[in-house]
Amino acid sequence: MNNKQIEQLKCVLLNSQKELVVLQKSSATARAPVRLDQQSVGRVSRIDAMQQQAMAQAQDRQRGVDLGRIKQALRRIKNNDFGYCLSCEEKIAFNRLLIDPSVSHCIKCAGA
Ligand SMILES: [Zn+2]
Repeated sequence: MNNKQIEQLKCVLLNSQKELVVLQKSSATARAPVRLDQQSVGRVSRIDAMQQQAMAQAQDRQRGVDLGRIKQALRRIKNNDFGYCLSCEEKIAFNRLLIDPSVSHCIKCAGA
């Protein structure tokens, strides 16, 4: 992998990071506790609201995991350690990194 390719993947990582942070902020409202004492809200819509909240929380957890992976990948770029499998230390295929630059393992180790 040459510097240009790493630069390209770094761009992808930074963009995803930005996107995730924006989504995280905009979902803060959706994650707000559901008010169960509201008389005007019927039982069905309360369940609805709770399901939506649970979904928003699950998405948020996933975003947190993704952000952590991106951060680690960016750190590996900084340390000139990027693109190597964390298990077997073999090079990770560029095409695999293109799909998800935050992957930390080669296809062999990820599949095992
Ligand atoms: Zn490996």
